[in-house]
Amino acid sequence: MATGLAFLLPAALFPMGSAHATQPECAYIVSPRMANDLRSLVVDVTIGCTENMLPKDFAVAYGGEDYADWRRLDDGRLTYAARLGALASAASSADFTATPRGVMAPVDAWLGIPMATDGTVPLPIVEDPKNASGILFLHNLTAERLPHAGGAITREDWAFGGYTVFTDRKPMQVMTPGPGAFTDPGRTGARQAEITVAVLDDGFAMDDVAITAWITSFAGLVGRYWGGFPADNLLVAVTPHRRVNDPFGRVRGGGGPTLLMRISKQDSPKFLHEKDWVLTHELVHVGAPFAPARRPWFMEGMATYLEPLIRGLGGAIPRRAVWDERVRAMPTGAAALNTEGLDGRGHPYWSGALFFLLAQYETAKLGHPDGLAPCFRAFRRQLGDASQRTSIQNLMRICDEALGKPIMSDLHARYASPSDFDIRPLWQALGLKRGKDGTIFAPEGAAMRDLFFNSAQFPEPLS
Ligand SMILES: [Zn+2]
Repeated sequence: MATGLAFLLPAALFPMGSAHATQPECAYIVSPRMANDLRSLVVDVTIGCTENMLPKDFAVAYGGEDYADWRRLDDGRLTYAARLGALASAASSADFTATPRGVMAPVDAWLGIPMATDGTVPLPIVEDPKNASGILFLHNLTAERLPHAGGAITREDWAFGGYTVFTDRKPMQVMTPGPGAFTDPGRTGARQAEITVAVLDDGFAMDDVAITAWITSFAGLVGRYWGGFPADNLLVAVTPHRRVNDPFGRVRGGGGPTLLMRISKQDSPKFLHEKDWVLTHELVHVGAPFAPARRPWFMEGMATYLEPLIRGLGGAIPRRAVWDERVRAMPTGAAALNTEGLDGRGHPYWSGALFFLLAQYETAKLGHPDGLAPCFRAFRRQLGDASQRTSIQNLMRICDEALGKPIMSDLHARYASPSDFDIRPLWQALGLKRGKDGTIFAPEGAAMRDLFFNSAQFPEPLS
């Protein structure tokens, strides 16, 4: 099949020398077409492999009957048609969207992967160079960013593979200071991250420029906390949501980070800039590798803790509101530590957030002005962004090294199982009390509280 592949792919896209005997390499040509609008989208996929492959060698996660018409071409390549418009229209999951102007689905929903391999899935995916349909195919799967040689993605990565988008609306592309831009020597201003924003329908109260400005402004705040936006590339899909003033978001990172934001067509810039927390929460997920989903306390605790901290540091919300929320919500986490522990099934968002609050408190007691920020910058440097996967143990180890003290592993050892945690001494040390009309801030804890918002966590962009 090598000859079939040779004319299918330009040489530069084909990683020579990385094939070994048992591992076929396949390249995909993706050709979208539609009848009336994107809801009738059909994606024709043609696959050329270095070994003789049969349709039965390939599988998708959800395709079913919308993924059919497999044929073998005369030159040995395989082809099939994915009725992705129909599949996305019928799906009830938030991972799928179909509007007249765009379709979004996780890549593993429609792109067949070879099953008879050693567990890695070969890339790259190539757009049909002859595609004259006017439909753009957007994804963030890039062979050179993948952790495995030869542009392969593991089957486990595939299961949380990024979102793919088909749209006839032009996406917006913006640049923001990228990984390490403010903190790594020699990187200042040199490394830019590219954010692509695809709005998948017409009729939003904000035009595409305003939606992109909203996303870019919060990506900029998250980037300052990380010392530069933590991913080189991010694809954001903005899709319509029925509920007003109640956005929904999700990150899928396999192969390259992608972020879904569902917002109501009525949501105003004022609401999104001043009240929405979901975008910042999801952008935090972009900045760290995925730790196992069956133990969500670390990832969700990290996002729940950092989201208000970053918005407070950036001036998007008053710092007082951050403390208010903590005093109100951390007791939920404390109760979960008492009854279940971190590793139990209690409230992973707030038990995890409380873990991070306690960790920052430990850094404050040491007088560290940059809090936990060195941890997240070290995750990015040593492990990468949301396209990577790791263990909680590994994340805690890297953090402890970055802080110079086993703060995380000590806290985890104390609170992994149910404990008799009491939150009152912490509030006392911080000079916080829950009053009838909101939080009461005592002057005694002011210096400690200030340390939590020290600007060392939030380096100024150097121009
Ligand atoms: Zn989350």
